[in-house]
Amino acid sequence: YIVEYKDDATAFNGVKKAQILGKGAINNAITSRIFPMLECEGVPTHFVGQLSEIEQLVKAVHMIPVEIIVRNLAAGSFAKRLGLKEGTPLKIPVLEHCYKSDVLGDPLISRDAPVALGWCSEDDLETIRLLALRVNSVLLHFFLERGVRLVDFKLEFGKLAGGQVILADEISPDTCRFWDAVTGEKLDKDRFRRDLGGVEEAYADMLERVSR
Ligand code: UDP
Repeated sequence: YIVEYKDDATAFNGVKKAQILGKGAINNAITSRIFPMLECEGVPTHFVGQLSEIEQLVKAVHMIPVEIIVRNLAAGSFAKRLGLKEGTPLKIPVLEHCYKSDVLGDPLISRDAPVALGWCSEDDLETIRLLALRVNSVLLHFFLERGVRLVDFKLEFGKLAGGQVILADEISPDTCRFWDAVTGEKLDKDRFRRDLGGVEEAYADMLERVSR
């Protein structure tokens, strides 16, 4: 398949919509840098190659309708749900599972639901969880070397025709929370969600750091 990265941005389940100029090209470039690096670190992905500024060639997979959230610090919905201050450290990475459904607003589900509902096997789910933790340890180190704290992020997985589970979708400031390691400045989609300004600049800054 060919994935096209757009400048369209949505938040709060599509309620807030806008265009972020250059976002598509930046997210394509960032994902195109990160996915091959993850492959080298033993994480199989759908990435084949970058085709153009906004296009990527990827392997065809059957998507598993689960969003895996990995958290290193409390932020966003997790902080809100538990009444925690954003930035509260977590003693171990927290994995969360959400049902990928725009109509339902991607609700949080239990670990058992994907198997109970026949979306994937128990083995598939275990593979997904192990891969998500592997991605986290590789990326924590990668971003810290570039002066960025990886607060949390979302991953999606799919199955090849042969049944292998691989990482799909993207890894970018749209799908991760990035805080500057020194100043704590937000360098991700929260700048758009929370009307903080400097959205384009933050995305460009992240591309520059990832390209180092
Ligand atoms: N996330 C995402 N897509 C979603 C929901 C979350 O990419 O549909 C990412 C989000 O950017 C953040 C992490 O997953 O890095 C955790 O998001 P959270 O559950 O805190 O939700 P939010 O506060 O973004 O509503």
